[in-house]
Amino acid sequence: MSRYDYDLFVIGAGSGGIRAARMAAATGIKVTVAEQARTGGTCVNLGCVPKKLYVHATEYGAAFSAATGFGWQATTPAFDWATLRDNKSALLSTSNQAMENMLAKSGAELIRGRARVQTAHSVEIAGTSCSAARILIATGSHPVFPAIPGREHLLSSDQIFDLERLPERILIIGGGYIASEFAGIFNGLGVKVCQLYRGDLFLRGFDTEIREFVAGHMRRKGIDLRFNCDVEKVEKEPDGSYTATLNDGSLLTTDLVLAATGRRPNTSELGLEQVGVELTAAGAVKVDDFYQTSIPSIFALGDVIDRMQLTPVALAEAMTLVKHLYQGGATPLSYQLIPTAVFSNPPFSSVGLSEEEACQRYPQVDIYTTEFRALKHALSGSGDRILIKLIVERNSDRVIGAHMAGEGAAEIIQGVAVALKAGATKAIFDQTVGIHPTSAEEFVTLRTMTRSHNR
Ligand code: NDP
Repeated sequence: MSRYDYDLFVIGAGSGGIRAARMAAATGIKVTVAEQARTGGTCVNLGCVPKKLYVHATEYGAAFSAATGFGWQATTPAFDWATLRDNKSALLSTSNQAMENMLAKSGAELIRGRARVQTAHSVEIAGTSCSAARILIATGSHPVFPAIPGREHLLSSDQIFDLERLPERILIIGGGYIASEFAGIFNGLGVKVCQLYRGDLFLRGFDTEIREFVAGHMRRKGIDLRFNCDVEKVEKEPDGSYTATLNDGSLLTTDLVLAATGRRPNTSELGLEQVGVELTAAGAVKVDDFYQTSIPSIFALGDVIDRMQLTPVALAEAMTLVKHLYQGGATPLSYQLIPTAVFSNPPFSSVGLSEEEACQRYPQVDIYTTEFRALKHALSGSGDRILIKLIVERNSDRVIGAHMAGEGAAEIIQGVAVALKAGATKAIFDQTVGIHPTSAEEFVTLRTMTRSHNR
């Protein structure tokens, strides 16, 4: 009989917390999860899932006009925001329930309320103190706003899914995942979009050629995408609109301002500092290779440790942790070759190094690229094109980066990521027979080198 109420007390029922709780409970230990909001965390309720549904909504819009080239004759149907929003909310409620059922089935308990760490082995929730052999912090992250006058007028991605009405115009601040995805969503739903990024080229950290290609396509679709541009203040007008003063002194009038300027780990008011859990300079929980904090009985994973704020990474961290603590034989999770996608319009997806990173790391790098129009668009009338790119380290012939922008990018790169993880060489890509006619086959038919780098 354990001297604690629980073997594992998880704070936060988001992707990482739920996965850890379910897997740990399946080993036969006593697990509870505390959650103050809806089960599923950001991904399910305010992130990946509703975002992807809204991206699909834009795809239908584009398909109506594209279909005329294939012989379909119909007037373009009207879009109803309330239907999309409410159907999304209904689906999410079902998902919340499904997750609670899964938790219960695994044997883990769910406690509603805000939990706070009291000591290395106890948590306070709803006025009750619970003891635990181990505590897992999986509290996620929250959006942060730029410190500008009028910041109270800014919306974050937390509020954007449930707007009462679709605006006619929206101003989006930021050049990362969320800003670029919502620029595509609102543009695809007929909203006039202006996206501002403070630097030279948005989507910092991704391959430059891909970023330029995506920027060009977004502009062609009608997004007013401005670089080296920032908002200095936002004022509300008597008619309910907003005026943003930009860094060049110009004014921009809009109906909504979305700030997608990054997310910060949720570490405040959790009692972490009081019990001695060390944080990084950026405010994330500091952990070792197996997610142990500076207090041996307290662990943390997911957005709160701020390694990679991606759901599949949190899931992988949870599985690594549970294997390490309760099953044995775990190896530390590798953060190399993690594929990722931005569901902008066009979407793009990458695994491995960008051309710039590859050139810094290796003396001889070969680049293979192809840009083309997908067969579908030969009749659709769309100007959309696809860019595919392989980065090869010449000495080993290994493919060290794969990138794609355009329709289907995320679906295709997921498979390519397996090949890169297996250490595939360019010769292996060349020996692989394509599937015709697809866009994906271009990954195995790239015979002519576009350029090479030597140093
Ligand atoms: P990102 O870190 O991706 O982007 C933040 C953007 O805001 C950057 O362009 C940054 O510029 C800019 N920025 C930061 N501070 C300011 C400021 N004070 N004024 C003006 N601009 C500013 O964060 P997001 O909020 O887009 O998303 C958070 C995280 O969530 C992502 O990093 C990603 O890990 C995850 N996510 C993943 C998705 C997916 O997998 N498809 C989708 C959505 C989110 P700069 O580059 O110059 O720093």
